[in-house]
Amino acid sequence: MNRREVAALLAYAVKLDPRSAPADQGAAAEVLDQWADLLADVAATAEHPGGRHWDASQVVRHHIATSPYPIKPADVSRPWWTFKRDILDRHTDPTPQADPDDPASYRAELLGTRHAVATGAVPATTYRELTGGPAPDVAAHIARIGEMPHHLREQLAEHGIGARRVRFPELAVDCPRTNCRARKGMPCKRPSGAELRSHTHDQRQTAYAALTPEQAA
Ligand SMILES: [Zn+2]
Repeated sequence: MNRREVAALLAYAVKLDPRSAPADQGAAAEVLDQWADLLADVAATAEHPGGRHWDASQVVRHHIATSPYPIKPADVSRPWWTFKRDILDRHTDPTPQADPDDPASYRAELLGTRHAVATGAVPATTYRELTGGPAPDVAAHIARIGEMPHHLREQLAEHGIGARRVRFPELAVDCPRTNCRARKGMPCKRPSGAELRSHTHDQRQTAYAALTPEQAA
């Protein structure tokens, strides 16, 4: 939320619970500063296909309707992080289009997609793209020319074309998912122990995306 949105939210809270009104203008400015800082990363509203809906003003309303305590910024930010985590847990990242040999842009793309999903700018995806953009053409071409030379298939696969992507930069970190915990360099596993060949767990991608450029190097 920007400052204007936070000011509107505070005005709404004061309307519903007049005792939360600041004593004077100086106090009001201080409260606005504090709230604007603490809620800078919280969305005012977010829509998600699938029925999940976030509205900060409804969170304020619910708090005032159900709690004997005056509302604090944490009463808004805490439900937001829960909402965001819940959305991201359901989200399956499309394989980044960025070159995995360029870790900075690969991670930037992962982070960008996740932020866009959490704020509702793009819908969460529940499928995973197994191949990059030109794959259907390549597949048709392969069907026409018959068997592809092995070395050429490998080269194309390295670029995510015509075959499942074989490299995942996020293998550089341990997978934090509790029922996987794959070590560095090892593929993620299902609870059955079967290795995941076509993707890695979202939690691992998140851990990798959160590395600083120095850590990722
Ligand atoms: Zn894993």
